Amino acid sequence: MSTAFGDPRVYERFWRQTGEKSTIIIPGWQSMSYFSDVTNICWFLEAEFASEVVRLHTVVGNAVTEGRHIVVGTGSSQLFLAALYALSPTDAPEPISVVCASPYYSSYPSMTNHLKSGLYQWGGDAASFEKEGPYIELVTSPNNPDGHARISKVNRSQGFLVHDLAYYWPQYTPISAPADHDLTLFTVSKSTGHAGMRIGWALVKDKEVAKKMTKFIELNTIGVSKDSQLRAAKVLRAVSDSWEQGNSQEGESFFKFSHKLMANRWKQLRLVVEHSELFSLPKFSPAFCTFFKQVLEPQPAFVWLKCEGNVEDCESFLRAHNILTRSGKHFGVSPKYVRISMLDTDENFSHFLERLSAIKS
Ligand code: PMP
Repeated sequence: MSTAFGDPRVYERFWRQTGEKSTIIIPGWQSMSYFSDVTNICWFLEAEFASEVVRLHTVVGNAVTEGRHIVVGTGSSQLFLAALYALSPTDAPEPISVVCASPYYSSYPSMTNHLKSGLYQWGGDAASFEKEGPYIELVTSPNNPDGHARISKVNRSQGFLVHDLAYYWPQYTPISAPADHDLTLFTVSKSTGHAGMRIGWALVKDKEVAKKMTKFIELNTIGVSKDSQLRAAKVLRAVSDSWEQGNSQEGESFFKFSHKLMANRWKQLRLVVEHSELFSLPKFSPAFCTFFKQVLEPQPAFVWLKCEGNVEDCESFLRAHNILTRSGKHFGVSPKYVRISMLDTDENFSHFLERLSAIKS
């Protein structure tokens, strides 16, 4: 069972029902050029995709887009690396430290250090970061793996902040206000579930930073697939339309569907965990969601499960019961914790619940 990864198969049922509304046909002669708009800083950004990004943020109210440059990336993963490149000083005597409060997304340290860059290097847990001088802090909110809302931890004047808001969507967390940061990353992987499209976007305040991020992508992949951008535009439009039309009647809104689905999964999971003395879950406070206009509980994309009692290695313990998870040690904390995806197929999710509820102390 693949609940160890965050492959977002959970929304397939919704997208099957949408038919033409989320389908595109690309004739052979289309999207042949490298260029989209040479007058734009991000010259490979498709106008149709950019306008659907702005529209969706306006519909959801989760990010300010005025006064921002949009940079498109091959997933937000490419934009993460582009941001490190753009924010690193070029004349520093040593690489800038990249930090994030633990537990942190396990790909941050490996992506940061993979190519042994002379510009930046992984600096570990932001909570214990004490080095003087400039640094880059990653703020993931809600956080992967534990689902909590976050603000920056280090809080010193020489910090550059990268806000990774992959999960700041109403199905996962109450939307409190439009995010208004210097550099914010989003992705279709977790918002609509189209991880295979490999499309992410950055909202960037500073023109020079947007230019450098664009340069990174130019050197890396000479732009981003137009086919994917056009498909992403269609999918984002279907999401915005489904909300606006869903309120009048036509079809179900994507966010209502996905919120209901996550609520249902979390309810089932809580029942199983509450009946067991072996495990515990993080506690979340309900908050007012400006999108759904009601007080709601967070229902994260991952379960951050703790093995209570004398089980020290929760991953091995669960593997012995045929449940594959990812150990807390990859996220900078104790192996008493594991991360489990809540975005797997219905079938895998029900196998997971069955196996978890069958475990006796
Ligand atoms: N940031 C976070 C916090 C994530 O969880 C993920 C996906 N697991 C990503 C970024 C990468 O997303 P993408 O598919 O857009 O590269």
